[in-house]
This record gives sequence, structure tokens and C-alpha cells, in this order.
Amino acid sequence: MKYRDLQIQTQREFPSNMRTQGFGWLIRAGYITRENELLPLGEGVLERLRALSNDSSFFLHPFESLRATLSLPIISNDTETYFPIATGSLEVANCSSCNYTARIELARFAKTALPQEEQLPLEKVLTPDCHTIELLTSFLNVPKEKTAKALMYTRLPDNKFVFAVVRGDMQLSEAKLKKQVGDIRPATVEEIVKSGAAAGYASPVGLKDALIVVDDLIPGSQNLVAGANETGYHLKNTNHGRDYSAEIVADLAQVKLGNACINCENALDVISALPLATRSEIFFENILLALAETHHDDKGLAFPKSAVPFDVYLMHIAGKELDTRAKAEELYNTLQSAGISVLFDDRNERAGVKFNDADLIGCPVRVTVGEKGLQEGKVEMKARNTKENQLVALDEIVPTLTK
Ligand SMILES: [Zn+2]
Repeated sequence: MKYRDLQIQTQREFPSNMRTQGFGWLIRAGYITRENELLPLGEGVLERLRALSNDSSFFLHPFESLRATLSLPIISNDTETYFPIATGSLEVANCSSCNYTARIELARFAKTALPQEEQLPLEKVLTPDCHTIELLTSFLNVPKEKTAKALMYTRLPDNKFVFAVVRGDMQLSEAKLKKQVGDIRPATVEEIVKSGAAAGYASPVGLKDALIVVDDLIPGSQNLVAGANETGYHLKNTNHGRDYSAEIVADLAQVKLGNACINCENALDVISALPLATRSEIFFENILLALAETHHDDKGLAFPKSAVPFDVYLMHIAGKELDTRAKAEELYNTLQSAGISVLFDDRNERAGVKFNDADLIGCPVRVTVGEKGLQEGKVEMKARNTKENQLVALDEIVPTLTK
């Protein structure tokens, strides 16, 4: 393709709306617009990626394909592959030791049970204005892990009242709860009252018609402080099995930074990430951003060969005696006939402008047709990732590029 036909517009400055380095380089090199729409160069990368993904091994092993072929620093599990990036749309828990990886809402982790205690008698205590775990723990001077946190929902579509309990030092993962009970919405005040609970002072003790679901730490945790289902009061020493029983005991807690890995107990990281592939879908535009984020230097993009829109950046430098442009055009046709994809910079621009654009766009090889070389029947060849040029005889170019 010819530079002018593609209407490539490179930018000298990073855009003001630059979210990440890679995003900025894609705009400067003319792969996408500032509004994040694909331009012909960006389309070219996606075409290459689609061709790669047609290989059946890609879906079987997207992680290996993306890592080995595209040299992307990625993390993955059996079903999804992610690229860590601060602007990522997802949060993922990741173990740097064994590579356990999962979206945070479903990530499992090794929980630490509290020391076993004798069950003490239930005791109703006055706890005015203690409608949060924070207020309650400071008022009663108990640690958060000695409290039971209540969350109330209504199941769709049968309107079953769902009462979930996690230890007070943990957060409920709604995604984990939904896996157990199906789709839910927050319960209304009327529904809470009807079940016999009290918002801010709720516990599963003495409820009517409630589906009680507790985190798997709760049955082994004795003497937890929980609501008395009466505004202004809590119960000390509630015990699962004695004071109430859950229909479902399951992992309901959401992972936090530093929780222990379920496989190796190493401290988990929680990182922002972009999804690149699932078992049934590939997010090509996310891969384009991951490529730009990973493969650039201070001059522009430098993608791996299997992802570049063109193999060769061909340009001419205007001569005084020889028609370098005509010779470049001839070479352009020769290379295309040999099956090499070429971006021919056919503009009458200064050499420096074209060199800058070649570095920005980042084709693996730049071929320059200049008067001095032509007088010896040679052109200049330079790889994107080296500083050195080499002079190559015209009839040696195709063999050199295809070897
Ligand atoms: Zn681990």
C-alpha cells in the first residue's frame, strides 16, 4: 500500500487525552484516532491477529499463543487471558508464585479460621446508633472478625428473601452469592421487616421464610456479635448450628490484596487488567493496545513481526540526477510480487520526516532508496530494532528479506 493512499497522519506530540503510553503511541503513529477508532494501520494489525487466531491452537492455548508469538506479559487461567494495565476494565487476583489468576469477584483464597472457643450463652445488649460494623466494633470493643456481617437480598424471580452472612472483617462477593442462589437484588425495607429482621441490626436468628446462606468460615466461628433484629440492639455470642442454621454454606467472601493464595498461600496481588481472550472470544482491539503498551521505545512502535501491518517501510530520498522515486516504485512492485507486504512512503517529504514516521509506525525493516546508493546499484536497509544500516544490492533485497 502507498502512504498517501492510506491517508496516514502521524502526530508529533502525544495527545492530551493520553490514558497510557501505548494509547498515546497508537495515536501518534496513526493506528487509531484520538477517539479510539481504528485507522487503516490499526485495521492492518487486527487483520494479522485474526489470521493468527484462525490457527486452531490459538483457542486451545491462547495464553501460549499470545505470550510466545506476540511476547506479551500476560496472566491467565483455564478460561480467560488478561493483560495487566492500570486502566484495565477488570480487577484480577494473581499469585506471583504459582500464577493462580481469577477475577476478584470469583477468586478463591485460603482463609484463616479463628481459634475454637466454648459456646457462651446468647446475650442481648443495647447498642445505640451502631448500624455499621465500624460503629459496633468500637462501641463494644470487639475485633471485626468476632462479628457477623448481614446482607439481605431478594431472589429473582421467586421473591425468596435471601439472608447472607460473612465474617465482619470480610466483604461479601455478590457474584459468589449469585452462584449459590441465582439472580438477586437488594431487599426492600418492607421485605426486611416482613422477614423479621431490622436493617442495620439484622441477624439470621429467628427469621421467617428466609434462605440463609453463610460463608464457610461462619460455622467454625463461635460467639460472634450479630444483630438482634431489633433497632438499637445486638446479640453477643451467636453460634451457627445452635442459634440458627444455614441452608447453604459456601465461599462467599471477596478476596483482598494480601489474602493468601488458595494453592500456595503466597500473598495475592490485586491488579487492574484488560481481558484479551476467553475460550470463545478474542478481544482484538485490547490486544492491539497491549502490543503498543509492551512494544515501543522512545521513537515509536516496534511490534513483533507477526502483528505488524506491513513488513517493510519503503521510502525514497529525492535525488539530483537519478529518479529515486521511479526506482523505489519499481522496487515496491518487485517486493509485492515476492509476497512481502510493503508500506511505500511515496511522499515528496524531507528524509528526516520520513525517517521519523518509519520509526513511529515501526515496520520491522526500513528500505531507503537514495541517489548515492543507487549509483552503486544498492539501497539502504535498516531493522527497526537496530541502529546500523546496511547497503544491499538491489537484486539481493528479496532474498535478504525472505530468508
Ligand atoms: Zn499461589
